[in-house]
Amino acid sequence: MQELTTPTAFQRCSGQGWLFECQEQDGLHIWDDHFLVEILDADGEVVGEGERGELVITSLTKEALPLIRYRTRDITRQMGHECTCGRTTSKISRILGRMDDMLIVRGINVFPSQIEHVLIGIPEVGNHFQVMLRREHHLDEMEVRVEMTERGFTGELSGLERVKEKVEKELHSSLNIRTEVILVEKGSIPHTSGKSKRIIDLRGE
Ligand SMILES: [Zn+2]
Repeated sequence: MQELTTPTAFQRCSGQGWLFECQEQDGLHIWDDHFLVEILDADGEVVGEGERGELVITSLTKEALPLIRYRTRDITRQMGHECTCGRTTSKISRILGRMDDMLIVRGINVFPSQIEHVLIGIPEVGNHFQVMLRREHHLDEMEVRVEMTERGFTGELSGLERVKEKVEKELHSSLNIRTEVILVEKGSIPHTSGKSKRIIDLRGE
């Protein structure tokens, strides 16, 4: 999967040697003796095991310029302590997005990178998408517009329905919220990673 972020606080800090990637390339090892890593939600609470949240770093041994609960604005998740390389440090995933991109839908944190990740795994649709958020009867409704690929378009209505249900099901299991998927023609979604075009939030109006 392509990295989604431009240089971030996380990458700038990495020059300090607080983490490294081993040959297995399955997550990033943390030097636990020297750095404490916390993954927090938008309210500053520690998230559950494996859940996505903001990477917050504290240096434990550095005296000259210590970092104390330094909020990186980067999104990652804990990956436990096991690695096939044999090291037993704590591990985090590569950066999955930025806090600024996070949406809160029905009280659940949703990251556009999660949607992209789901779409990449479904050959009938492209990776570009647009999210429309509305509030109906005091409830957030999330619509996801997704482009069909040539492979996915069979020309039959039942085929379209099948693809729509498949994408909705996969998004539901990844995001933990129900979405309405609208399949659109290839080329009809602006190809940009900018939040303003990709996320249309009409809930405040
Ligand atoms: Zn390893």
